[in-house]
Amino acid sequence: MFSKILIANRGEIACRIIRTARRMGIRTVAVYSDADIAALHVALADEAVHIGPAAASESYLSKERIMAAAWRSGAAAIHPGYGFLSENADFAEAVESVGLVFIGPSPGSIRAMGLKDAAKALMERAGVPVVPGYHGDNQDAAFLAERATEIGYPVLIKARAGGGGKGMRRVDRLEDFAAALESARREAKAAFGDDAVLIEKYLMQPRHIEIQVFGDSHGNVVHLFERDCSLQRRHQKVIEEAPAPGMTEEMRNTMGEAAVRAARAIDYRGAGTVEFIADVSGGLSPDRFFFMEMNTRLQVEHPVTEAIAGVDLVEWQLRIAGGEPLPKTQAELAVDGWAFEARLYAEDPSRGFLPSTGTLSHLRFPDGDTRVDTGVCQGDSITPFYDPLIAKLIVHAPTRQAALVKLTRVLQDTQVAGTANNLDFLARLSQQADFVAGHPDTGLIDREAETLTAASVPDDIALAVAAIIEAGGMTRSLGGDPWQALGAWQLWGEVNRPVVLYHSGGHTNCRVIAKGQVLFSVHFDDRAVGVRIVGAGGGDCHVEIDGRQISADVFQMPHGMTLFLDGHTHHFHRPDPLDGVEEEAIGGDRLIAPMPGLIKIVRVQEGDLVAKGQALIIMEAMKMELTLTATRDGVVESLHVGEGDQTSESAVLLSLRPEDAQ
Ligand code: ADP
Repeated sequence: MFSKILIANRGEIACRIIRTARRMGIRTVAVYSDADIAALHVALADEAVHIGPAAASESYLSKERIMAAAWRSGAAAIHPGYGFLSENADFAEAVESVGLVFIGPSPGSIRAMGLKDAAKALMERAGVPVVPGYHGDNQDAAFLAERATEIGYPVLIKARAGGGGKGMRRVDRLEDFAAALESARREAKAAFGDDAVLIEKYLMQPRHIEIQVFGDSHGNVVHLFERDCSLQRRHQKVIEEAPAPGMTEEMRNTMGEAAVRAARAIDYRGAGTVEFIADVSGGLSPDRFFFMEMNTRLQVEHPVTEAIAGVDLVEWQLRIAGGEPLPKTQAELAVDGWAFEARLYAEDPSRGFLPSTGTLSHLRFPDGDTRVDTGVCQGDSITPFYDPLIAKLIVHAPTRQAALVKLTRVLQDTQVAGTANNLDFLARLSQQADFVAGHPDTGLIDREAETLTAASVPDDIALAVAAIIEAGGMTRSLGGDPWQALGAWQLWGEVNRPVVLYHSGGHTNCRVIAKGQVLFSVHFDDRAVGVRIVGAGGGDCHVEIDGRQISADVFQMPHGMTLFLDGHTHHFHRPDPLDGVEEEAIGGDRLIAPMPGLIKIVRVQEGDLVAKGQALIIMEAMKMELTLTATRDGVVESLHVGEGDQTSESAVLLSLRPEDAQ
């Protein structure tokens, strides 16, 4: 076994690999960019080597710098994690050519599965069912449009070099094909440097079911059952589970055997995932699943497999890369219970899942037997340079129902303040009726988007607690210096204060009336809530409302406060009348960059007439393409950016004026 390995990655996966290596007595070397000097993975590793600036292309994606770091540190092997260089055959080859071990498959296996078109052709030959469509070389737009018509709409355009849902567009009608093709190609070119595409029949409401496979260098291949990753948004996985609901032993065996056949066809070594799409219009059926692609690395969602199979997949990877045979045979593997994983992201579901940056000023995960895979700690920042993943939350229980109850609980008890995040969305999703009933499909989130992402108006209890805090009532009732507290109240003349609470659902006017040191009555337009403060301090407050005791955690920030109450997160902001927040909400004159990024396309010129909702500027930020639209009808008065410009957060990109104003 290796005595020292280098981990060519960052974030949660680097931390996760370090933990297993340490348990096995292997020393670890982390690499880091300028943005990650104080990152958790750097602190956890035995050694760390700086590899360049924040931009991934000059650090985590630089083969040369990573190889140099490996040499310098004397590591015998390189673990690529997922993303970055993990599926880069040239990198694997370069590593091997200098006598180091690449912890993963051979460069040949990676290449065979690297492009979706060639992989599909190869799988067809190996007798693995593939999604019907066109995966040839001809990339002429008119020719592809003809193939789409032949396949029958809806179709899916996929970048052959694609990954992470990028360069993928569903097209419903011939009229939309050309524009979708252009945009898929543009995204593919930017993300992968290759704009070739394939066209597939778009399956309606399918399920994404994938099989974990493992091969060793002695010719053995096993599968470790399936994961259902059907809960997706923009083709990206949101909550994954293992096993798949409704899976029969017959179908599991058929899919498992097909996946093993796929792996054998390319002499596969190490951890891999064969992704299938299942047409479930008539229920799960062994004759209606199709190969989509094979990922020749560890997947983000591997922990659910670890939970139900009772194995450590990173340990398997290390042992196999060290030349050992597979630790278990197929007959020794069995499914134990049920597991879910939810991906907690710094993104704002109520604003189209816009990635968010900022400092995680408060971050608390629940105690108990939840597995939390994270690469950040409280106080760390989510930067615009990498994925805005905060953590993966993994639960395991004997049955699906028990595991789902645990999942909801964990999502409700996790606390994040400082950046927007998708906790509330995930908690609602974990309780969504079709999902709870065991019927996830890839279209579920889109269909239910409105309910899942609606801004939540805080209930009266949350409003009342927030209002008392805003009015200074918690400090007063907590004692401290009673004279000072009293003085503060006296400034207002009487113990009766108006408070305006601004929240994601709008704002609420209320009045806080103190009836004693710990007794308050909070009045809204047509109703009032009586609150007794039982205790408070250090960010916790304990109140009694209507004969029920309630605990809340309060987190104050310069521009607002976050209240964690009854499993919900409520953020109240204090608007600065001089900033653009209000303007944006009502559809103002300025188009503002929601985050730092690169201006890719400017669709308008000064003087152009635009309509509300019209796409004006396309920017690339946090590895995503964002379309910025007109907040209202008007004329472009001034344009402040051009294509190729780098922009900072909150920068004014263009200004509009009403059509008739001069
Ligand atoms: P990527 O490599 O970018 O992740 P995949 O080929 O793995 O792309 O597909 C990602 C997701 O897109 C799938 O999980 C599925 O939800 C959806 N998808 C892919 N192919 C089809 C198809 N032919 N019909 C319907 N949905 C599809």
